[in-house]
Amino acid sequence: MPKQKAVFLDRDGVINHDPGDYTTSLEEFTILPGVIETLVSFTEKGYAMAVITNQGGIAKGRYRLEDFLKIDACMREEFEKAGVRFLETYFCPHHDAICRCLCRKPGSGMVEKAVARHNIDVSASFMIGDKMRDLEAAAGAGVRGVKIDVNQDLRTVSFPW
Ligand SMILES: [Mg+2]
Ligand SMILES: [Zn+2]
Repeated sequence: MPKQKAVFLDRDGVINHDPGDYTTSLEEFTILPGVIETLVSFTEKGYAMAVITNQGGIAKGRYRLEDFLKIDACMREEFEKAGVRFLETYFCPHHDAICRCLCRKPGSGMVEKAVARHNIDVSASFMIGDKMRDLEAAAGAGVRGVKIDVNQDLRTVSFPW
């Protein structure tokens, strides 16, 4: 399999509106304006895409794994309607306050896993995140980061490609 270039995306505050607290249910999940158009353009440019998200609210008992998976399935369905497919959604259900793990950002475990499983060319790939820990996670795996503001319209971001 030839190496592929990829865009890794944080979820909350990048794909969906981050109200400053956990997104605990489908009712609270709203895709931000500009995301679908932007991801369509990434697809047209030949980028594979994967979601890399901390979901520490699961460890804290704020919502259940099932709630997260339901949101994820609906999110993927929305994007698929526009012809956008995610390789996978990588999520960390842990939280430092409850238990340590190897996946939670700023650790690079999830990005490294995605890179290995999907034969990603890290030198041609990017991670879009609204927190420094997103970019640290990417950097740990050798992937360049693009920092945006929380809930920023991706159409207003100048990407380095
Ligand atoms: Mg975020
Ligand atoms: Zn974890």
